[in-house]
Amino acid sequence: MTNTPGALLGPAEIRELAGRLGVRPTKTLGQNFVHDGGTVRKIVRAARLRPGERVVEIGPGLGSLTLGLLEAGCSVVAVEIDPVLAGQIADTVRAHAPEADFEVVTADALEVRELPGEAPTALVANLPYNVAVPVLLTFLERFDSLERVLVMVQAEVADRLAAPPGSRTYGVPSAKAAWYAAAHRSFDVSRHVFWPVPNVDSALVALERRDPPSTTATREEVFAVVDAAFAQRRKTLRAALSGLCGSGPAAEEALRAAGVDPGLRGERLGIADFARIAEHVPLRAGTVDT
Ligand code: SAM
Repeated sequence: MTNTPGALLGPAEIRELAGRLGVRPTKTLGQNFVHDGGTVRKIVRAARLRPGERVVEIGPGLGSLTLGLLEAGCSVVAVEIDPVLAGQIADTVRAHAPEADFEVVTADALEVRELPGEAPTALVANLPYNVAVPVLLTFLERFDSLERVLVMVQAEVADRLAAPPGSRTYGVPSAKAAWYAAAHRSFDVSRHVFWPVPNVDSALVALERRDPPSTTATREEVFAVVDAAFAQRRKTLRAALSGLCGSGPAAEEALRAAGVDPGLRGERLGIADFARIAEHVPLRAGTVDT
């Protein structure tokens, strides 16, 4: 582990800041702070940011990654739910990078519908693990200016987000992420670069925005099919979609009309297949969360 001198936060400063603020990291908010400058710089390099690029960071915490993003010359808007951390971060940024272009929004990222300033083109974050997937999907949905994403998540979640159809870890997060972007798993991160040390492994996942499949169905309709298809993983699509379609025969008809074998399971299908099925669901029922 490198303790990089300079503008970034090391273990001593993380402890000192947390102590001064009376921060006792909570699991509920997924508060594990990175104290290794080498890891931060590796993440920033992997994010392939342009100098001056507007980046949104979710959960800046004590500012470890934020300072790395600012060091790379980015303009950063950060969304932090914890008012104590949100209240401190501007001072931390001022102390380390006085010229930096930075602002913080104190809010639950899941509730944020607009951001101040220029629209961000990149999302880079060490996400709070318990809400990582909803936060990621919500941001891709609400901020169509986002072209690229690089997020640190639980390693298992990184696997799921990047899984192709047919693989063991392919499921709802993989299919929904594929609506917005092409995802690939990036590098693993040691749990020892965090304070406190989490009891799960972490990894980065990179997403590159692309057009959703061309379809007459809405995103909500397609996601309703995805949710139903995976609600009971072991069932065939005919059985799994019978509720959504009104009956088994109606599900079979919709699947055949979409050119999909009703005897398959959802894990074999790509997002374009789910979109085609959604076009044939009677009444196109169902609204879902992201
Ligand atoms: N970026 C910092 C780092 O790398 O050291 C902290 C990352 S820590 C894993 C997650 C951060 O997300 C914490 O600061 C936590 O308070 C914040 N957080 C948790 N839930 C959130 C939410 N719903 N919206 C915004 N921030 C949240």
